[in-house]
Amino acid sequence: MRTTVGIIGAGPAGLLLARLLHRAGIDSVVLESRDRAYVERRQRAGILEQGTVDVLREAGAAARMDREGLPHDGIELRFARRRHRVDFPALTGGRSVTVYAQTEVCKDLIALQLAEGGPLLFEAEALAVEGAESENPRVHFRHQGREDTLHCDYVVGCDGFWGVARTAMPEALSRVYERTYPYGWLGILADVPPSHDELVYARHDRGFALLSMRSPTVTRAYLQVPDGTDAADWTDDEIWDELDRRLETDDAWRLARGPVTAKSVTPMRSYVHEPMRHGRLFLAGDAAHIVPPTGAKGLNLAVGDVVTFARALVAYREKGDASRLDAYSDTCLRRVWQAERFSYAMTTMLHRAPDATPFDDRIQLARLDRITTARSAETDLAESYTGFPLD
Ligand SMILES: Cc1cc2nc3c(=O)[nH]c(=O)nc-3n(C[C@H](O)[C@H](O)[C@H](O)COP(=O)(O)OP(=O)(O)OC[C@H]3O[C@@H](n4cnc5c(N)ncnc54)[C@H](O)[C@@H]3O)c2cc1C
Repeated sequence: MRTTVGIIGAGPAGLLLARLLHRAGIDSVVLESRDRAYVERRQRAGILEQGTVDVLREAGAAARMDREGLPHDGIELRFARRRHRVDFPALTGGRSVTVYAQTEVCKDLIALQLAEGGPLLFEAEALAVEGAESENPRVHFRHQGREDTLHCDYVVGCDGFWGVARTAMPEALSRVYERTYPYGWLGILADVPPSHDELVYARHDRGFALLSMRSPTVTRAYLQVPDGTDAADWTDDEIWDELDRRLETDDAWRLARGPVTAKSVTPMRSYVHEPMRHGRLFLAGDAAHIVPPTGAKGLNLAVGDVVTFARALVAYREKGDASRLDAYSDTCLRRVWQAERFSYAMTTMLHRAPDATPFDDRIQLARLDRITTARSAETDLAESYTGFPLD
């Protein structure tokens, strides 16, 4: 098999890249190790930055998002039983975010790819990438029990944190920056209308809580839990009781409860692999970097990487200008490190570490107090949350 761009992975990064390339008249093949139903069901991100929304529109992949997505002009911070709303458009000159689940983004992009785009092979597992330093890199893969080779001009590893593409980066050139956190998120989906019309981020002495939503009738909520927690250890009532405690305020606000339909635990990690390019092998999305979900950046970073790659490849093909392809890693990493900074700051401001001292608690409260009283601090949060420019 032969193509211009071999894409490993049909998460948001791989699917959007295939779509952007198709719109630019560049052919690609997407290899995805799982089946379609699995990819379309996997519950993950839900907050789309303004730039992500704009890109999906430009890619002709926004019809359902524009109908069903929920535009949000702010978030609420809760701490010490107080509430503070951060008003995004007022602080950023009109920017906002949209709540639209990653599963739905993927469903939309899969449907478009199968209807109009190049090959998208499910249950096609990439086994190894070879020849990154040559003009013709190759992906060895297994599909329907048969091994095959995809010959490409470029390979883009969009295969997530556990994928194979990153292992093709020479060890001598690779640098890894990493931090794990001694806690994770217990996330639920519940069939009950959200109790607040914007996301609520709560810092509490018992730990962090996030109240979010998937739709006007489905609540998404998260609790900070100790590392290694099994979701099955928590009954539904215990989860609602704990959310009640951590989200409590001094006013009349009440949390609405409903049947829990899904429950899982996500570990928290910050991770960056540098560089993001070697020869004709490019890494994009979670294959190159992970952020803790507190800043809602993972999906948006994946989008940023593939936009940078697609624009760079178009510039090369149309104008013979290779400078943007050469700068791919540096361009992406500048944005990635801003997202790492913001995600780390949100995580450490809102979560309670197991060894937190009264001094640490006071510092967290002072950081929150600063955001609620100093416009410069609040603006920094609003600008970072709504997203960094795409190059
Ligand atoms: C609970 C949770 C909540 C989150 N919330 C947010 C949020 O609100 N906002 C946000 O922006 N981000 C959020 N994220 C992060 C976001 O989901 C990820 O950053 C995003 O999925 C990254 O997309 P990706 O395409 O790079 O990787 P992935 O979505 O991981 O996709 C990689 C794909 O590659 C496939 N693959 C792997 N290995 C191979 C192989 N060898 N061959 C072929 N295919 C392979 C996988 O099956 C997968 O389909 C959240 C994540 C979690 C877990």
